[in-house]
Amino acid sequence: MSTKEKLIGHVMKEEPVGSRNKVTVVGVGMVGMASAISILLKLSDLCDCLALVDVMEDKLKGEAMDLQHGSLFLKTHKIVADKDYSVTANSKVVVVTAGARQQEGESRLNLVQRNVNIFKFIIPNIVKYSPNCILMVVSNPVDILTYVAWKLSGFPRNRVIGSGTNLDSARFRHLMGEKLHLHPSSCHGWIIGEHGDSSVPVWSGVNVAGVSLQGLNPNMGGDGDSENWKAVHKMVVDGAYEVIKLKGYTSWAIGMSVADLVESIMKNMHKVHPVSTLVQGMHGVKDEVFLSVPCVLGNSGLTDVIHMTLKPDEEKQLVKSAETLWGVQKELTL
Ligand code: NAD
Repeated sequence: MSTKEKLIGHVMKEEPVGSRNKVTVVGVGMVGMASAISILLKLSDLCDCLALVDVMEDKLKGEAMDLQHGSLFLKTHKIVADKDYSVTANSKVVVVTAGARQQEGESRLNLVQRNVNIFKFIIPNIVKYSPNCILMVVSNPVDILTYVAWKLSGFPRNRVIGSGTNLDSARFRHLMGEKLHLHPSSCHGWIIGEHGDSSVPVWSGVNVAGVSLQGLNPNMGGDGDSENWKAVHKMVVDGAYEVIKLKGYTSWAIGMSVADLVESIMKNMHKVHPVSTLVQGMHGVKDEVFLSVPCVLGNSGLTDVIHMTLKPDEEKQLVKSAETLWGVQKELTL
């Protein structure tokens, strides 16, 4: 008899039920690991198993071991990793962060074909082992790759979500907070559209405690604004490029943003987030593209969208964003 057998008497006849609240992260690069640690720290009460997948076996094993060594300080029972997707079986949420990242000065749209090819392998494997999961795409260009994941998975649109402008909006609210000396959670502002160069700041909705800032400063966001609020949006757009120039990649903010979205899903919070969804037919968008608009997230995924009362020039910018994406998307072979 082994020490284990002497110590522990097994009373259950069948095998115990496996994990009920499993989250998978595909890609253990900078973004994948920042997402993994943020999920573990934020949701370890709820997430009973974290699975990691990558093609680089040594890196995958090393990252998994490093996290497992911290198990004492977490409440997640199991951290597993393998390049075989069977390790991801029955996940509730699968976060995809695999793929090439931007080089200094490179746009997100430039990454598209390399990452589409990677998705052709990843997505069918996820679907095979977790046919009921909610897919969250983070790899760039995130809006196009969310469309690609939707097509490749055959999932209904409520179960394919792009992390979208949840991060851009967080950057905006941080910068707005700096300008007003307030915490970002008290600074309300929504960046919608493309996660990237053509994102749209909804100046008409920017407020603190329900007080419209455009009501106080009618030129807000325009060229004739002496306070140059337009520069705040420019800093949001340039933010990622700047961080990449300084440290080579972005990771912490996107990791926290992913954990924020996963929390809303796993806890069925019905919280509203700016995330990427199929926007065809909304705000004058004609093409089959994914862009960020405020969406309700819960344990069925993305169940509803909020109809924003956009001004005509804001709608025009959104349509332009859609046309830019469609221009790239229509050339793709899936
Ligand atoms: P990284 O190079 O550090 O990591 C990428 C990882 O993907 C690597 O570990 C690599 O081995 C893995 N990978 C490659 N092919 C794979 C495959 N077929 N299956 C599984 N894993 C595979 O890159 P990163 O900095 O972590 O960035 C990852 C992605 O996230 C990039 O596309 C980047 O642009 C994007 N990103 C998105 C946001 C956002 O807001 N949506 C923010 C930052 C970065």
